[in-house]
Amino acid sequence: MSLPPLVEPAAELTVDEIRRYSRHLIIPDVGVTGQKRLKNARVLCVGAGGLGSPALMYLAAAGVGTLGIIDFDTVDESNLQRQIIHGVSDIGRSKAESAAASIREINPLVNVEIHNTALDRDNVREIFAQYDLIVDGTDNFATRYMVNDAAVLLGKPYVWGSIYRFDGQASVFWAEHGPCYRCLYPEPPPPGMVPSCAEGGVLGVLCASIGSIQVNEAIKLLAGVGEPLVGRLMVYDALEMSYRKIKVRKDPNCVLCGENATLTDLMEDYEDFCGAVSVEAQEAVVDSTITAAELKEWQDAGKDIFLVDVREPAEYEIVRIPGATLIPKGEILSGEALAKLPQDKQVVLHCKSGVRSAEALAALKAAGFRDAVHVQGGVLSWIKQIDPSLPAY
Ligand SMILES: [Zn+2]
Repeated sequence: MSLPPLVEPAAELTVDEIRRYSRHLIIPDVGVTGQKRLKNARVLCVGAGGLGSPALMYLAAAGVGTLGIIDFDTVDESNLQRQIIHGVSDIGRSKAESAAASIREINPLVNVEIHNTALDRDNVREIFAQYDLIVDGTDNFATRYMVNDAAVLLGKPYVWGSIYRFDGQASVFWAEHGPCYRCLYPEPPPPGMVPSCAEGGVLGVLCASIGSIQVNEAIKLLAGVGEPLVGRLMVYDALEMSYRKIKVRKDPNCVLCGENATLTDLMEDYEDFCGAVSVEAQEAVVDSTITAAELKEWQDAGKDIFLVDVREPAEYEIVRIPGATLIPKGEILSGEALAKLPQDKQVVLHCKSGVRSAEALAALKAAGFRDAVHVQGGVLSWIKQIDPSLPAY
C-alpha cells in the first residue's frame, strides 16, 4: 500500500539547500519536490532519549523543516551509553535544550521548537495539533497509550518504536489507513510483567537500529514514497541479526478506532490504566488478592467483610459495586481514614483496575490490617465477570 505525500512542497529550495541536500535531490524518488516536502514538514519527536537521539539527528540532517522536541528530563551520565545527541558537557542540562543545540550544529536550517514539559492529557492535543507527524520515542506504557490515543483522535500518523536488551520493534500507526497501537496491544501488560530499559537494560546501538527505521518511515510518509510500515510490525533481533515483518490488522472491535469505538476522548489517568505500581504495592498484593468472582461468592455467603472503594467520588457516582463504602485512596495513604475502618472485619479494597487498591493495600498492611485484601481488576473486572449491564468507564 502506498500513500499520498503527507506534506505539500515548499515554494522553493535556496542555493544553500540545493548544495546541502544534493545527495537526496539526485535520488529520482525524492528529487527536488520530495526535498521541498521535507522542508515544509513539521515533525514532533516525543522524547529526546534512546530512540529520539538518532531520530532527531537524522531528521535534522535530512532537512525536515521544523522539528519539535518534547522532553522534561535532564541529561544523566547513564544516558550517554545510547543517547548520542547529548554529550558530556550536557550532563545536568535539559534534554530538549541539549538536543536542540546538537540539531543546530548538524543543520542550522532546521527550525527547532522546544517543549520543555511532560506530555500529559491537558497538553497533548494542543502540541500534536501543531505537527504533521509524530515520532514516538517514549519508554513507558502510560505515555505510549496516550500518544496513540491523541494521534488517533487528531487523525495524525505516528511512527512507533520500542527497544529492550537486544530486541526492537517498529511500526507506523495511522487509524485512517490501518491499525492503531491498541489494535495490536489492546491491554497494557500487567504491572511488573515487562521491565523497563532502566530495569532490564538495552544495547545502546539498538536505539540506532530502531530509531533509523523510524526516520526512514517518517521520510517515506512525508514525501509519499515507498511502502509505509502501516499494518506491519517490524521485529528486530540483534543477536540473530534478523528482521521479521508481521502483519497487523485493524481490530474491528478496537475501543479507539473500531467500528463501535467506546473511547471517544483521552483517558482520565494513563498511569492508572497501565498499572504503574510501587514495589510496596507489588509485595502487598501477594497472597492478598481476590477476584471479582470471589468477592461475589463472599458476599453471597454472607461473609463478614468491609468493602472499601478507594476511587474518587466522581467515579463512585458513575458505577459502584453493591455494598462498597467510598474512602478515596488519598485518605488511606495519609492515614486519616484508618479510624473509619473496622478492626473486627476483614477489609476488602477495590478501585477501577486494581492499581490504586494495591497501593492502598500496602498502606493498610503497614498500619496493621494484616488480613486485608484487594480485588484484582477492580470495578472493571466486576463488570466483566459479574454484571455486564453496568457501565465500564
Ligand atoms: Zn485501533
